[in-house]
This record gives sequence, structure tokens and C-alpha cells, in this order.
Amino acid sequence: MVKNIGLFWLKDDFRLKKNSALTEATQKHNQVVVFYLYKKKKFENQESQKWWVGKSLEEFKKQLHTYNINLEIVKVDSYKSFFERLFKRKNFSIYWNKTYEPDYLKFDKYLSENFKSNGIKFNIMKGNLLNEINEVKKGDGTPFKVFTPYWRTAEKFYIEKIPQQEKKISKCKKRTSFFENTMHEKEIYPKKKWFKKFEKYWEPSEEKALKELKNFIKERIENYSEARNFPNLIGTSKLSPYIKHGQIHVETIWQECAKIKKKNINKYLTEIGWREFNHSLINFFPHMIKGNYSKKFDKFPWEKNHKFLTAWKKGLTGFPIVDAGMRELYFTGWMHNRVRMIVGSFLVKHLLINWIEGEKHFKNCLLDYSKANNVSGWQWVAGSGADAAPYFRIFNPILQGEKFDKEGEYVKKWVKELKNVPKKFIHKPWELKDEKILKLGSDYPSPIVIHEKARIKALEAFKKI
Ligand SMILES: Cc1cc2nc3c(=O)[nH]c(=O)nc-3n(C[C@H](O)[C@H](O)[C@H](O)COP(=O)(O)OP(=O)(O)OC[C@H]3O[C@@H](n4cnc5c(N)ncnc54)[C@H](O)[C@@H]3O)c2cc1C
Repeated sequence: MVKNIGLFWLKDDFRLKKNSALTEATQKHNQVVVFYLYKKKKFENQESQKWWVGKSLEEFKKQLHTYNINLEIVKVDSYKSFFERLFKRKNFSIYWNKTYEPDYLKFDKYLSENFKSNGIKFNIMKGNLLNEINEVKKGDGTPFKVFTPYWRTAEKFYIEKIPQQEKKISKCKKRTSFFENTMHEKEIYPKKKWFKKFEKYWEPSEEKALKELKNFIKERIENYSEARNFPNLIGTSKLSPYIKHGQIHVETIWQECAKIKKKNINKYLTEIGWREFNHSLINFFPHMIKGNYSKKFDKFPWEKNHKFLTAWKKGLTGFPIVDAGMRELYFTGWMHNRVRMIVGSFLVKHLLINWIEGEKHFKNCLLDYSKANNVSGWQWVAGSGADAAPYFRIFNPILQGEKFDKEGEYVKKWVKELKNVPKKFIHKPWELKDEKILKLGSDYPSPIVIHEKARIKALEAFKKI
């Protein structure tokens, strides 16, 4: 045991299981303090995240207390100024897990140099991915740009080095404090009370994440390949916010899946693979975080249309499946993957609005917002990404609705104005023409664009690049 205090820098790692850096700290030190840096600017335009993070801090604090560990939240203007002050204190060693985003990995280098030159012991450990970013490359050492060969390599690589034994977190001798001017997690919650609705749908804790995984494996994984496409069903795992905030490690998901012999497990793990791939992409091609991966899209003739953008955000486009998705997002902080593709395609192709606007709105609303998955998801939809859907493949929101929400159950759940509309018209209520059931234009908007015309316009715009 080392005599000084062990510090653990908590970021997106709200878990005790498979938390390498926290485990290491508790095994080396009798006293450990966990600290979270709250940088207000980081959460600007990420309202939903504030709710999940606030809740997670509240819950994790309780969990850590049972191990005699304090969790302290420190308000900072910049990480750099905080650490500059920390370098001057010598009575600690520090541990943290990697966050696989270019800024964080670059900052890790800065911290390593400075902790080293100040004689402070530190340890940076593997974060929430199956493989380290640099481990998975093509034979010639260059990064993959296409998912299928990436995953073939990445999957094999991970299988070969699955950790056999898991180290467990140890109980500390007694609780101690380290930082001054700490803040309460309640200060983090968004000012708007709209987030209260989330409490009906989510419970941000490690315990809940593990329970959800077990239920999913027991009850739903077998039908995942088919059911995952239908937004009226709970066909997917709904683990994304827990994965994003590290309430569960993807290795745990892998290992729990590997224990059972059910078909369709591979399909599920392939989706986890997409997350790995997206992290690889943003780190090897960081320019795609702020703009198009494919440079030819820099010349795309996007249109600025505030009215259309607002209608899209509010779920008032007049296209039921699009509006249902946008309202699901608003009320629950989550949206079904199939519908994310539909609403995304509608924004960039029917409305010709730059995907960056959609990315920004999702960032503000999604509880699972992840830099890697969101920019890659949007660029996949827009056609500007690495392994993307071609721009000319334009989702027809009416047919998508009729195919994946045949009975209109999903639409009726979120767009209450349409609850009496017969099945035949649920995805094209403008054809109903029965004012006793629906007054188009007052009960529910007329479609803001005509599908066929919008499609032709989008294809013409695409020809320009
Ligand atoms: C425009 C757009 C934006 C998106 N933004 C995000 C985002 O900010 N954060 C996010 O986690 N996912 C994002 N996705 C991917 C996907 O929609 C969600 O991961 C998925 O809907 C989460 O639900 P689930 O946990 O039930 O998924 P499941 O189907 O149960 O999949 C399990 C896990 O695999 C990962 N995963 C699943 N599908 C994908 C995918 N297509 N790409 C990458 N990883 C995937 C997620 O971590 C997910 O939790 C986006 C997709 C699109 C089209």
C-alpha cells in the first residue's frame, strides 16, 4: 500500500465493475478520492446530458460511500487551469481511464508530461472500448475506412485477448476529502424542468444497466435482428445512455453475451462494433468532428430555412413518422435507430438542411449523445461519411412508416393528434380528407414539402457536387 492519497479522475466511467483506473487506485491506496470536473462550457447546448450526469453523480456517490470513498465535484473554467494547480500539490497519485476523443487523448499527453516532470505518480488506463484505437489497423498500418473489414479484424483481435480475470475494487480504510470549493450535483441539472419527464423512462445507475442487459439477453436478443427495425417494439437493448456514461463497460456486454448460446448474438455485437468503428474514425480523421469527412460535400448547396428547421425540431413537419421520432426524442431523450435514420434523412434530403444542424440538435437532446456515434451517424445519413449511405438513396418517409410501423402504433403513441386516423392513412394523413376525424392544417400540420418534389430537388443538388 502506498501512503499518500489515490485520486481517480471520473469522466464517463460511472461504474465499479471493469473500472480499471478506479480499481487500481483502491488496490494501491488506503484512501481514495474520486473527483469530477464540472466545466459549464462543456455542457452548453447539451441539456439532456446535464440531467443524466447529475443523476449519475448522485447515484455513484452513494455507491462509492459503501467503499469509504468520497466523490467530489469541482467546478472549473478549464481542465488545464485546474491541473496546473494540481501539479503543485504533491501528496497524491492519480489514475484515470482514457476517453477516446482526440481532445482528451491529446490532453492525456500533456498531463503525462507534466505529472512526470513534477514527480507525481499517474496511471492512464483503458477506457470503454473493446480495443485500443491504435491496435486495429489495416495490414499496411493505415486506418480502416470501411466497417466490414474493420470489424472482421477488430473482433478477432478482441477475442484473442479477452481478459480472463477481473480485478475487483477494494474497500478503503476511511473516507477523506481532498478538494476545496466543491459543488453539489444538484447544481448541474438543467434549468428547464422538461427533463423531469426523463425520470419516467430512465434510471441512471450501474445496477440498472446490468439488469437491463440481463433482461435483454434473456428476453430479446434472440429476435434482435428482426425486432431492432420496428420502433413500436422494444426490440433493442436501450443500453446506449448507460454505455455512453460508462455505467456499463462494453467488455461486460461482450462477456455476458458470450456466456449464452443463442442465435443473433453476433448481430447485436456487430452494433457494438459500429460504436468501436466510429471511435476509430473520429480519432484517425478528427476533421470529421467539425465538418464533412468527404471533402466534396463542402460544396453541397445546403439551404438555410429556419421555418423548416423549427418544424423538424418540434415534430411538426406533417410527416407522421418523422414527427413521432422527434417527439420521442423530446419526451424521452432517446430515439429508435431506424427513426434516427428516417428523421436524419428527412432533414438533409427533403429539407436540404446541413447535417450539422441535426447533429447539434441531437447533441442537445440525446441522453446517449456521443461525439463519435453522433457525427458518424449523421454523416452516414448525409452520405458525407466514411462508410456512408449514398446520398442518392433517399428514404421515403411514407414507405418507411408503412414498412416499419405498419399499424401506426408508434406514430399514435407520440403524435396524439392522429389517434383516430385509420391505419390506411396513418402515414399520409393528407389523403384522408375527412374533417370529422382530422382537420389538416389545424389539428395537425399539412406536409411542409411534397415528397416527390423534394426528392428530385435533392438529387439535383447532389449532382452539383
Ligand atoms: C443520425 C444518428 C445519430 C446517432 N447518434 C448517436 C449518439 O449520439 N449516441 C449513440 O450512442 N448512438 C447514436 N446513434 C446510433 C444508434 O442510433 C444508437 O446507438 C441506438 O439507437 C441506441 O439504442 P440501443 O442502445 O437500443 O441500441 P442497440 O441496437 O441495442 O445496440 C447496442 C449498442 O450498440 C451501439 N450501437 C447500436 N447501433 C449503432 C450505430 N448505428 N452506430 C454506432 N453504435 C451503435 C450503441 O452503443 C448501442 O447502445 C446515432 C444514429 C444515427 C442514425
